[in-house]
Amino acid sequence: MAGLLFIVSAPSGSGKSTLVSRVRSLVEGLEFSISYTTRQPRGSETDGCEYHFTSREAFESMIAREEFLEWAEVFGNYYGTARSALDHARAMGKDLLLDIDVQGALQVKKHVPEAVSVFILPPSPEVLERRLRMRSEAEHVTAQEVIERRLAEARREVTRVNEYQYALVNDVLDEAVAELRGIVLAQRGSGDGVAELAASCRTGEPSARLLQALASF
Ligand code: 5GP
Repeated sequence: MAGLLFIVSAPSGSGKSTLVSRVRSLVEGLEFSISYTTRQPRGSETDGCEYHFTSREAFESMIAREEFLEWAEVFGNYYGTARSALDHARAMGKDLLLDIDVQGALQVKKHVPEAVSVFILPPSPEVLERRLRMRSEAEHVTAQEVIERRLAEARREVTRVNEYQYALVNDVLDEAVAELRGIVLAQRGSGDGVAELAASCRTGEPSARLLQALASF
């Protein structure tokens, strides 16, 4: 394993968590960095599993001790990637995947220019709104304002897609899983026919599907 670093970003509600966890279960030797956050756990989330849930004070002490590779404030909460996650993966010779927002991705790119970046788009703002609404209903929060804020943020984030090497549209989950897996394997230099699939997700030569999704935002 080469010790590659993958950065995956997506607007909130793009279905990224499901996509990433499917790819992790399919690809060997791909570690996932568990971020620190000051937001409250949602649903069945547990400390140390999806996130390390922490207080603002503890998070700010970690910033002061320069323990983060990157950190950002997203929707009023802090989120950060511990430097130790990267050090650990490198020591084990494993590849590491970071699920972080656009601000964090740019910070990581500065420190690790060879990192491979992937942006995940929902097919359209309408689909994104539907997914955000379903999620908020499942969590028993009626929050039109929250949905509006997330949609506005998604529109801003989508404008940064060209700063990523790859972009894929999470419309049909199985296809998006195959594409993300294909990107990881192609970057590893595996020759099992994934190179073409990965190439179809390059932002430098956008596919018709990607252009259509981008135009809808
Ligand atoms: P959520 O609260 O929905 O789990 O995540 C909100 C946003 O924070 C998502 O865009 C997610 O990618 C981002 N995020 C999660 N962990 C980190 C992190 O460690 N650093 C940064 N910069 N963003 C993160």
